[in-house]
Amino acid sequence: LFHNPTNLRKQAPLRCGRSPEMESKKPIFDVETFDDDFVQKLVYDALVWSSLHGLVVGDKTYQKSGNVPGVGLMHAPISLLPTAFPEIYWKQACDVTPIFNELIDRVSLDGKFLQDSLSRTKKADVFTSRLLDIHSKMLERNKKEDIRLGLHRLDYMLDEETNSLLQIEMNTISSSFPGLSRLVSQLHQSLLRSYGDQIGIDSERVPRNTSTIQFADAIAKAWLEYNNPRAVVMVTVQPEERNMYDQHLLSRNTHNIVAIRKTLAEVETEGSVQEDGTLIVGGQAVAVVYFRSGYTPNDHPSESEWNARLLIEESSAVKCPSIAYHLTGSKKIQQELAKPGVLERFLDNKEDIAKLRKCFAGLWSLDDPEIVKQAIEKPGLFVMKPQREGGGNNIYGDDVRENLLRLQKEGEDGNAAYILMQRIFPKVSNMFLVREGVYHKNQVISELGVYGAYLRNKDNVIVNEQSGYLMRTKIESSDEGGVAAGFAVLDSIYLN
Ligand code: ADP
Ligand code: MG
Ligand code: MG
Repeated sequence: LFHNPTNLRKQAPLRCGRSPEMESKKPIFDVETFDDDFVQKLVYDALVWSSLHGLVVGDKTYQKSGNVPGVGLMHAPISLLPTAFPEIYWKQACDVTPIFNELIDRVSLDGKFLQDSLSRTKKADVFTSRLLDIHSKMLERNKKEDIRLGLHRLDYMLDEETNSLLQIEMNTISSSFPGLSRLVSQLHQSLLRSYGDQIGIDSERVPRNTSTIQFADAIAKAWLEYNNPRAVVMVTVQPEERNMYDQHLLSRNTHNIVAIRKTLAEVETEGSVQEDGTLIVGGQAVAVVYFRSGYTPNDHPSESEWNARLLIEESSAVKCPSIAYHLTGSKKIQQELAKPGVLERFLDNKEDIAKLRKCFAGLWSLDDPEIVKQAIEKPGLFVMKPQREGGGNNIYGDDVRENLLRLQKEGEDGNAAYILMQRIFPKVSNMFLVREGVYHKNQVISELGVYGAYLRNKDNVIVNEQSGYLMRTKIESSDEGGVAAGFAVLDSIYLN
């Protein structure tokens, strides 16, 4: 097993930088001026590039594409060109990332805050309840996680009316596309190098995106901290995964540390914890568990998967995320953190607190009768969210009203399964979206995700950095945003 820790530790950070030649303001292109021949040419080049560089996903029409790598490949759904994004908001999103990372870490350490905040949700939501059970067990045993690894993606939309960058959510488990997002930025840079003069824009304005390398490095550094040269990284996966290349891109960049892929069911059958806490799976010691499953009830079809989650939590392996980090990323905790005075409980620096608060949209619990009344009157101004991840779970429009009225009839207990959030309305623009080899010109809106990596060992913060980005663009009329769920495409940004 070859490894060079010094190289890892020396790596220079590269992030929100912008080269001096980018200082002058240029207008972004207008897709109305593009003729079909030209767009076809761009699409052709984009698809060749994607195939050559692994910007691919499994093709769902090909049965084995979710299990067998290298068969049934399809280019990832993409935006043909990057989406304009004002540099000031980009910088703002980069700037707050390490603060959010730190916040997540601090909140995760406050077991009482997590349990208390989620105590009513526990009664209304079985999935959250199971996570909380594992969390309580760990609290009872006074189990400490000395080495803590967070690979987060903090998502934002730019609200057009108020002109502000507002946070959609914080993902602490299975943040997707740290592998493919880097490729999308590179694809756009490459297209703009070839066609930028014709379009009138400059490839240098697509910020450099090192998401894959930074996340992979953070995993490798966590492995180093664990300090068992024979141990492996274990990626927990779903039994079928068409987004597997995104995951492989990470695990193939961890400096030759061996990575194994296991479903939670396999972890249960093949796994055990030794007396000293070492997690053994399939005969191999595991240093780091990187979850790319386990974030939805669908990943827990039986008790086996819950047993696996408990086993992992009981072990000394570095968990990305730990059960406490996982809970910290829940929608309910996001809403609790937005209440007056709560951030102050976790952070000391007043400027930092103000920066985070500036990104908070309106967030409410359903116990607030005034807000529920408003949401019933004007459901279009709200989004109702259950404690779920992975897209496709939120409630919009008239369904908000119906669900609120239903909950009122059923009595108060069901309330705690949801939160209400101010609906954010980003600017609508025109863009070419490419899926399955075909492009369509659509009216679209976008959501910026900024990756954040955090690693500490006891008091020593080893990594706390903004780690690349992902823009996701979707048809304006679609409420939800998941790429894997089929709503959105992968995109990058063009600073203006
Ligand atoms: P998940 O954890 O399932 O991704 P999100 O909170 O990110 O849940 O919601 C899914 C999608 O719904 C987002 O990607 C976004 O497109 C849309 N969405 C969520 N919250 C809002 C909001 N407050 N305003 C407008 N759209 C939203
Ligand atoms: Mg999420
Ligand atoms: Mg989301």
